Amino acid sequence: MYHWPAVVVATPAHSGVGDLLSYRSGAALAAGTLVRVPLGAREVLGIVWRCDDAPPEGLAPGQARDVAQVLDALPPLDAGWRELVAFAARYYQRGLGEVALAALPPPLRDLTPEQLARRLKRPAKAAAAEIAPDHERALSPEQAGALAAIDGATAPVLLFGTTGSGKTEVYLQACAHALASETTAQVLVLVPEINLTPQLEERFRARFATVHGHDAVVSLHSGMTPPQRLAAWIAAHTGRARIVLGTRLAVFASLPGLRLIVVDEEHDPSYKSQDGARYSARDLAIYRARVAGARVVLGSATPSLESWHASEQGRYRRLDMPSRIGGGALPRLRLVDMNHQPKGALIAPPLLAAMAERVARGEQCLVLINRRGYAPVLACHACGWKSGCPHCSAYRVFHKLDRTLRCHHCGFTQRVPRACPDCGNLDIEPIGRGTEQVEEQLARLLAEARRPDGGPARVARMDADTTKAKGSLEAQLAALHAGEVDVLVGTQMIAKGHDFRRITLVAAINADASLFASDHRAPERLFALLLQAAGRAGRDAAHSAASELWVQTWHPEHKLFAHLRAHDHPGFAKAELADRQAAAMPPFAHQALLRADARTQEAAQGFLKAASRAAQALPQREAVTLYPAVPLTIQRVANVERAQLLVESDSRAALQRFLTAWQPLLLQARSAPEARGLIRYAVDVDPLSV
Ligand code: ADP
Ligand code: ZN
Ligand code: ZN
Repeated sequence: MYHWPAVVVATPAHSGVGDLLSYRSGAALAAGTLVRVPLGAREVLGIVWRCDDAPPEGLAPGQARDVAQVLDALPPLDAGWRELVAFAARYYQRGLGEVALAALPPPLRDLTPEQLARRLKRPAKAAAAEIAPDHERALSPEQAGALAAIDGATAPVLLFGTTGSGKTEVYLQACAHALASETTAQVLVLVPEINLTPQLEERFRARFATVHGHDAVVSLHSGMTPPQRLAAWIAAHTGRARIVLGTRLAVFASLPGLRLIVVDEEHDPSYKSQDGARYSARDLAIYRARVAGARVVLGSATPSLESWHASEQGRYRRLDMPSRIGGGALPRLRLVDMNHQPKGALIAPPLLAAMAERVARGEQCLVLINRRGYAPVLACHACGWKSGCPHCSAYRVFHKLDRTLRCHHCGFTQRVPRACPDCGNLDIEPIGRGTEQVEEQLARLLAEARRPDGGPARVARMDADTTKAKGSLEAQLAALHAGEVDVLVGTQMIAKGHDFRRITLVAAINADASLFASDHRAPERLFALLLQAAGRAGRDAAHSAASELWVQTWHPEHKLFAHLRAHDHPGFAKAELADRQAAAMPPFAHQALLRADARTQEAAQGFLKAASRAAQALPQREAVTLYPAVPLTIQRVANVERAQLLVESDSRAALQRFLTAWQPLLLQARSAPEARGLIRYAVDVDPLSV
């Protein structure tokens, strides 16, 4: 016979049902204990959220089911972790159980207590033994000042350090200090995309290798296999791992000894999750640090306007590191006014000449273009046919190398037709440019260029297509480092984090593409991209005096370029924030999107309209503005019609109160007649693009 205490367990039940369910247990269980409980016909993993000593109202003891198993080999998840998860669920309008369980490594869901106990006995062996140790460097005065300020910080720190100013060394030494403060101390280091920053991971591993025979550094990201993720998660949870280095999902790692959180490249949009609970790992890091009493450092050469604004208001402490280590100069901006270049020129003649000159000196060039493939559209000039995707409201991209038309939204791929499918015209032509075409043309245009050893210029390409295979990204980066490539063409992935020595010219050849998009964050993104890209050049002081950032533009008068010329992020941020304030845009307003996916656009918008109507009765509605339902820019993807509705308020708290009151009404709006055909809906709080 069981008796109370009852345990209240966060389960993955559908959020509408209410996912804190009561179960009976023979003994009181500590909050945070993992259990397996029956849910319908299944048995699922749950987390004890609290233990009540009386049955919940309206539930007779006989009605509650029993906890099936207690995974007590594992220490309970601590209060700080539970508070983080509860906050994330509340703030991002998701079920508590959903968020809590999604934050655990997937294999944990299926392990029996015995299997788990065996895992815990057999910790992963240290793999770092062969890594060459990496020694602390003597800090520059700027670095030393920043480090001291971080050590003594009571507020979140925004480390505003130009590219090459040595932010990583500051992170490393701040970590060392945090770890030395207590024997159980742990550090969380978040990076945008781990495979784009292999150097950072290497440096952490080399510096902190092993502690007591265990890997002191573990990674956590979605590219790992489930068993790897489980092992890393357990190492962090049990305190064996001292440093967790991971992508946004790592913000939920269980870290009982957490003393410091570093968010590298804090401006990067990949910190915002785009499905499930659409959380911002950067913003959760701030919350988590406060709950844990840990320090938090956000680092960037191009801070987000949100963080910049917070530092202007004094909510974050800003630390400036304006100088490059070794004194390398930042590259000079060369704007090419495309209005005065030969018609149809892909690369303006002066830029081409500058590239040939670099090649002749044995230096390297990076060429940035924001689209992969050969051309974004294939078209027939006789009848107007275009390579649309039958499943999406988007064009399929022409990939010349494997002669395919590929949809970058749904993946639908076909061989390129020999003739126009509509009129039979044999002359179908690519419109616009992608990385493949730029690579092809540059190889041709630079055919006469010679390296110092007399060899021809070697042009290579790096984008999502060339780096798909495991290890290929590392191989390409290694080739670039080894000087086996003279000109590298690629998408924005080549602008990130890498520390290349011999790059003295960076060129953005269609930078304008995003500038006049309706997205109010477009200028911020472009400015960050160009400054980050510029940061790849001139890191070696020996060449830096002559390093250049070339930008081809049709709008050289755009004010963004004046700030770019001066490498003036503060000036840019000030001007952009003034615009945002005048237009009542974030961070001066707070936003959420209600998104709907449906079989028809009418159903998607029908649901949103029903939701909007239902909101009118809410008292919390007065503090928010509800905009009309609109289709997304790319309205249909994989045969799903998409629409959204923007909710705005000048108070974050008022927006939160409204969303919480609105949630139950959304469930009802789901079954409104005009919503028939609705597939799913989701709320996106603090959306990145509206
Ligand atoms: P950031 O992350 O700010 O772009 P990095 O941390 O990559 O800059 O530093 C740029 C380069 O300077 C790296 O090669 C790094 O090893 C080197 N470096 C950083 N700090 C020092 C220092 N105090 N002394 C010598 N070299 C340093
Ligand atoms: Zn045709
Ligand atoms: Zn498609």
